[in-house]
Amino acid sequence: MSYTVTLIPGDGIGPEVTAAARTVIEATGFTIDWDVQEAGGDVIEKYGTALPEPALESIRRNGVALKGPITTPVGKGFSSVNVKLRKELKLYANYRPAKTMPGVKSRYDNVDLIVIRENTEGLYSGLEHEVIPGVIESLRVITYEASERIVRFAFETARQYGRKKVTVVHKANILKLSDGLFLDVARLVAKDYHEIELEEYIVDATAMRLVMRPESFDVLVMENLFGDIISDLTSGLVGGLGVAPSANIGTHCAVFEAVHGSAPDIAGQGIANPTALILSAALMLRHLRQPEAAANIEQAVHTVLSQGKTITGDLGGNATTSEYAAAVAAVVESLQ
Ligand code: NAD
Repeated sequence: MSYTVTLIPGDGIGPEVTAAARTVIEATGFTIDWDVQEAGGDVIEKYGTALPEPALESIRRNGVALKGPITTPVGKGFSSVNVKLRKELKLYANYRPAKTMPGVKSRYDNVDLIVIRENTEGLYSGLEHEVIPGVIESLRVITYEASERIVRFAFETARQYGRKKVTVVHKANILKLSDGLFLDVARLVAKDYHEIELEEYIVDATAMRLVMRPESFDVLVMENLFGDIISDLTSGLVGGLGVAPSANIGTHCAVFEAVHGSAPDIAGQGIANPTALILSAALMLRHLRQPEAAANIEQAVHTVLSQGKTITGDLGGNATTSEYAAAVAAVVESLQ
């Protein structure tokens, strides 16, 4: 059986890291028919937008996409392709695992957590206005519906992966109405998941505990802005941008991508670290109900990183992007 999946190489280092991810996926023996779509800074002249309709249409049709990073041009009039993509496809959940990896230098050796971020509302609803000159209001919208959906997603994720605890991160001591609602909803949803512990933690205290005792967290769920900041913190706990995968999940579509951007400073040199996108591809395979292929990719990445022989410059080695991908693919093949 094969699947058709949208592939958006993106720009900057995007084409290099997506090619690497394809090589590794092919090594699993699971066949994907790639529906390759253009998007990014290079196509603005051709389509008048960095996110052309054919790319969106393709994701709507296939339901799943693997995406390289896309540059957001600086200046007014350019909204982020990534934000637009999440809005257009209603990708309400951002899923960011953070797990310590052998061979990747980090401050801890025992982190294994998942941050789940609400992706559609909060302060990122885009509702800002000038009340009078010099006074701006930004509206932070929290709804019952979106809160229920994201908390349920967190508990379902915990159940699916045999996790023991969901921590609801909030600021309900100050934001009594908005975060009060988020917390109330979480308590209600938790009643449907008796085997999973519900923990409530204030966001600032969460930041400190993450830095001091990250191993004490399991699954964390929070609204948009808190999730944006906390998920970067957790990526930093396990080695940073080059190795941080993510998924954006909606009711009908899912888009898998690395956390990092298009890295224009190293684009075209063949030296980018494709680990983050390769691990995002593993998340995608799990979503496509190919858990064995996904696990093989993760294990192969761990093997190559812990051997430390064929690793990219950002991790202290001198392998090219394609040499590293070939090394991971070879281990994947040996695991079958
Ligand atoms: P960036 O993540 O592109 O780069 C930050 C630093 O990390 C750079 O020094 C870069 O060389 C390095 N780096 C990033 N990924 C790497 C990798 N895989 N291997 C080795 N080194 C890596 O962040 P930025 O410079 O702030 O953003 C560049 C552009 O990317 C901006 O236009 C931004 O809007 C866009 N962006 C896109 C996405 C996305 O498409 N999802 C996400 C973040 C940023």
